[in-house]
Amino acid sequence: MTGWKWNKMRKRIEDEFTYLAVSRQRKYQLRMQRDKRCTECGEPAVQGSRCLKHLVKARERQRKKRGLKRRYYGTLSYKLQAVEKR
Ligand SMILES: [Zn+2]
Repeated sequence: MTGWKWNKMRKRIEDEFTYLAVSRQRKYQLRMQRDKRCTECGEPAVQGSRCLKHLVKARERQRKKRGLKRRYYGTLSYKLQAVEKR
């Protein structure tokens, strides 16, 4: 902190998360979730708290972690991907 003057001049975002005892990163994620935004990049979320790009990324991560061999093509993110390619 560089003092109260600097603090006062700066426009602070105050909302329900401002005084929570959680990390800045966590607050950012909470705000993104509240605004239905991707918690990773701030793009509009398509499902849960992820945009299409990060939904796919998260899914790929999950797949690797679980070592799944088959893909679940009925999953929403696949459907959305198909729509985007059209
Ligand atoms: Zn994203």
